[in-house]
Amino acid sequence: MDLSLNETDCSLQERARAFCDQILLPLELEVEQEGGLPEAHWAPIRDQVVAWGFAGINHSVENSGCGFSILQQVLINEQLGRATSGLWDVVFLPPVSLKFATDAQKQEYLVPSCRGERRGCFAISEPGAGSDPRQVRTKAMKAGGDYILSGEKWFVTSFSAADYVIVHAHADDDPDRPTLFLVDKQSPGLHHQRSPHFMHTFIYDHAEIRLEGVRVPESKRLGEEGQGFELTKDWFVEARLQIGARCLGAATRALELATDYATEREQFGQPIIQFQGVSFPIADMAVEIMAAKSMLYRIAWQLDHTDDRKRAHAHASAVKLHCSEVAGRVVDRALQILGGRGYMRENPVERLYRDLRVDRIWEGTSEIQREIISGQIRKRGVALYTGW
Ligand SMILES: Cc1cc2nc3c(=O)[nH]c(=O)nc-3n(C[C@H](O)[C@H](O)[C@H](O)COP(=O)(O)OP(=O)(O)OC[C@H]3O[C@@H](n4cnc5c(N)ncnc54)[C@H](O)[C@@H]3O)c2cc1C
Repeated sequence: MDLSLNETDCSLQERARAFCDQILLPLELEVEQEGGLPEAHWAPIRDQVVAWGFAGINHSVENSGCGFSILQQVLINEQLGRATSGLWDVVFLPPVSLKFATDAQKQEYLVPSCRGERRGCFAISEPGAGSDPRQVRTKAMKAGGDYILSGEKWFVTSFSAADYVIVHAHADDDPDRPTLFLVDKQSPGLHHQRSPHFMHTFIYDHAEIRLEGVRVPESKRLGEEGQGFELTKDWFVEARLQIGARCLGAATRALELATDYATEREQFGQPIIQFQGVSFPIADMAVEIMAAKSMLYRIAWQLDHTDDRKRAHAHASAVKLHCSEVAGRVVDRALQILGGRGYMRENPVERLYRDLRVDRIWEGTSEIQREIISGQIRKRGVALYTGW
């Protein structure tokens, strides 16, 4: 059983770490002070992503992506996750569901997205539809060769930086026909309502938008009518695994900062790491990260070697649940070790503490992951998780 990373993977990991250290970390305080990434940085940083070879890391070479394996994407995202305030999101991840696009749609959306010339965002959630997307009220009514979309979408991440939205709507208002549509942002009837503030500072926004009779030609439907969930499921597998990776990158940075501080900081005549009250939490943090990382890498490797999408979905939920909860515990302990300094906004651990909270909520809450996992156990037995 050889679990070592090969030379290519190690150099990719190092490149991602260098990109994070040299390009992302120097922007952290400005983003925090400005409440987001000032627009003057948007184009130059996109060019940096391309120059460093991280454009379209989640797509195949034939679609102008990098052709990286899932494990390689995990290695990159883990390093990016060390950056605060969502700076990792400068590395644009063109929607996975575009893999299922027609050739014409790929040329219009996927290929330019992989090159950094276009950017998409994803709109499923609504005021009445969060964990339960069957409650979606956005409808797509057939009108000749077109669809007319009406509804309201919330929490649309990076809407400000995007130029198209993938909208999840019910064809003919039928919840059994969830369907995805590619909607250009300048389409008449697509309105930006507001972009509320959230607990974390985020480089772009999380917008609320309204669709009022937005006309979309059939050629902009992604997949078939009723395929919405199926295509979104593939997105979730990727997103959940990459959340796991970013969480562990963030947790590792928090642990490193806490350990450095505990080694230097003296109270009662000695470095505080000499006190078990400080060193034991550090030991627990290291062990929890180690265990979660073993799981993350194993599942990523497994996904590169399987076509079993159901199994992939089941395991991605476990990774997302565990890594986000481990990271939450780690950053809480790290902040405690840093004392008052850990509570200052200029301290990365304070920002990581706020940043990591959403990882137990978005892309399916921890409770929904447990629902998926327990449902899978009921159907397929515990060995799906406990077997090797
Ligand atoms: C910062 C941010 C960015 C986001 N970005 C996007 C985006 O880009 N696109 C998008 O479409 N959405 C996005 N979301 C929405 C996100 O996916 C939802 O917030 C999430 O799915 C939960 O839905 P909800 O907030 O409506 O909570 P609800 O579904 O109302 O849940 C409230 C509570 O009830 C619990 N609960 C619900 N059902 C069950 C159940 N069956 N069993 C046990 N507990 C349950 C939940 O776990 C939660 O604790 C974003 C959210 C945030 C906060």
